[in-house]
Amino acid sequence: MSKRDYYEVLGVSRDSSDRDIKKAYRRLAMKYHPDRNPDDSAAEEKFKEANEAYEVLSDAQKKAAYDQYGHAGVDPNMGGGHGAGAGGFGDIFGDVFGDIFGGGGGGGRRSRVQRGADLRYNMELDLEEAVRGVEKQIRIPTQVACETCNGSGAKPGTSPKTCGTCGGMGQVRMQQGFFSVQQTCPACHGEGSIVSDPCTDCHGRGRTEETKTLSVKIPPGVDTGDRIRLAGEGEAGSHGGPSGDLFVQVSVRQHPIFDRDGRNLYCEVPVSFVDAALGGEIEVPTLDGRVKLKVPAESQTGKMFRLRGRGVPPVRGGATGDLMCRVVVETPVNLNSRQKELLREFQSTLDEKYEKHSPKKTTFFDGVKKFFEDI
Ligand SMILES: [Zn+2]
Ligand SMILES: [Zn+2]
Repeated sequence: MSKRDYYEVLGVSRDSSDRDIKKAYRRLAMKYHPDRNPDDSAAEEKFKEANEAYEVLSDAQKKAAYDQYGHAGVDPNMGGGHGAGAGGFGDIFGDVFGDIFGGGGGGGRRSRVQRGADLRYNMELDLEEAVRGVEKQIRIPTQVACETCNGSGAKPGTSPKTCGTCGGMGQVRMQQGFFSVQQTCPACHGEGSIVSDPCTDCHGRGRTEETKTLSVKIPPGVDTGDRIRLAGEGEAGSHGGPSGDLFVQVSVRQHPIFDRDGRNLYCEVPVSFVDAALGGEIEVPTLDGRVKLKVPAESQTGKMFRLRGRGVPPVRGGATGDLMCRVVVETPVNLNSRQKELLREFQSTLDEKYEKHSPKKTTFFDGVKKFFEDI
């Protein structure tokens, strides 16, 4: 690629004064400064090009060599030793911008380009949705770049003017006694530009409020407190800054049957006292339907059964949890006289010593007996 003429790069004539060259360079450097053009490689190229041209044309010796021999006279690769490389603009930058940027040390240099705010969306999920994963449409109010003015805030056909007070940097240096302090420009409030003819759709703000619909994929296994980041779906940045992120904050509703603890689910299963006594097969609810569970004879309330793999798949990977079923033996209700009679008959067949049939009752009364003996 052939190099452009340095005078052409800066847009000045060959007989321009040093002052005019400096002014032209300053204007270009402001326009293409990386702080104002993030992620814009074309602007970065222009910025480097202007720096290189200025480094040569601002140096009397290099300028003379360039005027006589062209690029060959100042190209470091041609053995001239003048070192006008694209990267070596640190010194001149401080030289030209020292008064604005705070002495070239980078101190106080502040970019007007701002990243948009992050947004948070609270999403309530049913336990089934949280366990299986779900895709949800959400509607969020957000600030987006105004379409009418492309975010500039200026009426189409016009453009914001560079602020004369701060020269477009949004910051001014003020002398206070012995100190020189940097402040937000009072004329443009740090914007760096002034919109004299504001866009009627956004009233010069460059952004408009809009409700956008987003599709959010919730992975299986999420739990209350988890959050899902949607990069770039937050508020639009200002002055071409990147958008913020959207964080979907998950909370899982209480389920009527299941309690969740991490990757395990818990539920209580009522068992008739006949099944509990004789043993039997009962149906247990799971999140996917029902499974049969064999209850062994002489099961008591509180007995736990573990159904492996019927719990929750952890969102960060690993084995799916278990479903823990706690048996609750139910006392029969609404008995007719025949059933009551049978129960009385049943009662009469029991051994007088209740320890034979009621282990818990035995333990209880043994405890009570011991308690009174101790007193
Ligand atoms: Zn607008
Ligand atoms: Zn200003």
